[in-house]
Amino acid sequence: MPGFELFGEKERAQVNEVLDSGVLMRYGFDGMRNGHWKARELEKALEDRMQVNHAHLVSSGTAALTVALACTKVGAGDEVILPTFTFVASFEAVLSVGATPILVDVDDTLTLDPKAVEKAITKRTKVVMPVHMCGSMADLGALKAICDKHGLIMVEDACQAIGGSYEGKPLGSYGDLGCFSFDYVKTITCGEGGALITNNEAFYDTAHQFSDHGHDHIGNDRGAESHPFLGYNYRISELHAAVGLAQIGRLDTFLETQKKNYTILRSALETLPEVTFRRVPKNGVENYSFLNFFMPTEELARKAISALSENGVDACFYWYDNNWHYYRKWDHLKDLKSLSPLSDQIKNGVPDYKNSDFSQSDQWVGRTISCLIKLGWTEEEVKERAEKMTTVIKSVLTQ
Ligand SMILES: *Cc1c(COP(=O)(O)O)cnc(C)c1O
Repeated sequence: MPGFELFGEKERAQVNEVLDSGVLMRYGFDGMRNGHWKARELEKALEDRMQVNHAHLVSSGTAALTVALACTKVGAGDEVILPTFTFVASFEAVLSVGATPILVDVDDTLTLDPKAVEKAITKRTKVVMPVHMCGSMADLGALKAICDKHGLIMVEDACQAIGGSYEGKPLGSYGDLGCFSFDYVKTITCGEGGALITNNEAFYDTAHQFSDHGHDHIGNDRGAESHPFLGYNYRISELHAAVGLAQIGRLDTFLETQKKNYTILRSALETLPEVTFRRVPKNGVENYSFLNFFMPTEELARKAISALSENGVDACFYWYDNNWHYYRKWDHLKDLKSLSPLSDQIKNGVPDYKNSDFSQSDQWVGRTISCLIKLGWTEEEVKERAEKMTTVIKSVLTQ
């Protein structure tokens, strides 16, 4: 997944252009910047690549989710549905706009189970947020049908799946709003950065205004802009955008490399009939940033992950025990440990996650092993890794 493996001349040249111009701010200073508008250029590149009318850059993926939710106007008393398997950023964004995060089960896609979503809908539900974890997507067609039926807005978190597609549409472009992260470990990186994309002009206008203090961005005189509503600062800098601009130009090459490496590992593991793979929805194409597979039981998954590590196969993860990505260890959410007092709507509205039944999620995530696909591996290294992984897992299965 990580674009950081392959920094080079292109990134350096882009950054130097910004430093030479002397303008690190994405707005204003028109006369000083020698025509350099890196954030705007990267937005244009994203619009082209993602086939959408609008892209807006922000300071992180978390900021992108927050701004996207602000666009939908969810707030106190409203519910946002999200999966039990995601990154903590998902519920952080929901809480930061004052809304209530409602976790629901994942299925064998390792993303939102449409049936669980439908069951969780109440009259307070406003947004459904599928999270395309580890390179592959939720069943977007089914989720879209549910959203349409109940008048809900879909915000796609495509932070881990940039470059994947569903029914021929780039991930992130299928819902009403889509979010990307360009943090240091994502497929393409700016160091820190993020973007949201949409075809909805009203959402776009809200997004660029909200993420820049509510300035309306009308006219050339920044000081004279008015404020249609309260905003915050979630801006990206020109330096970060410059790195992203070089990286997006390399996205399709990165994806090709990921696919090649993924396919070698997968073909090797496919020789073991007990190992099964995460379901990719029909008409979906992964971005191949991770290879995700199921062991027959949780016990065997635990044995396999230890054996992989003992045998020097790095970059494999067991998310079930991970406190960044899976609800079981989100104690700060379960205890609602907020620094400042929370609204009654949140205090009363967040379900008792200490006693919730997510056995369906446990049953899939407890058996999942995810292996990061790196860009820098040589073909020889991948083949060696494939052989080693297969031998190690086979020995676990036949113990
Ligand atoms: C990385 C990530 C985010 C947040 O992105 P940041 O840029 O690190 O704030 C959100 N959701 C998912 C699924 C992620 O992996």
